[in-house]
Amino acid sequence: MDFDHAIRERGFRRWYERQLIESHLWLVTGFLSLVMMGVALEVVEYRESLDGKIALMAVGGGGGALCFYAWRRFSHQLGLAEHIAAQATCPGCRVYARLELLRAKDDAGFASGRAADVRCRACGQTWTIG
Ligand SMILES: [Zn+2]
Repeated sequence: MDFDHAIRERGFRRWYERQLIESHLWLVTGFLSLVMMGVALEVVEYRESLDGKIALMAVGGGGGALCFYAWRRFSHQLGLAEHIAAQATCPGCRVYARLELLRAKDDAGFASGRAADVRCRACGQTWTIG
């Protein structure tokens, strides 16, 4: 779901809070997969048999892939949330996160790939985030 759809449904603060929670859950997932991969590699008997070597490769590859994927999700989601949150201050009255979404469209010039026009609920100033 694009950030503008989520902001329209839940509001900016709830969207931002959810992004922080989800991204940190990905961080925990990556850390746990790294720990579990290490534990599994310690207990696999791989020197005596081909099955052990295959299990070692599966555990190492699967755990490494999950850790890498979780790290990428964490860093992308948190980075995007912080990037958009940095634009949530009204340029007119400096109020933070009191905005309503007016319209949004695809725009490759923005980091999120979307440009959303928003209006300040305090003073009515409009600007674009994305
Ligand atoms: Zn304002």
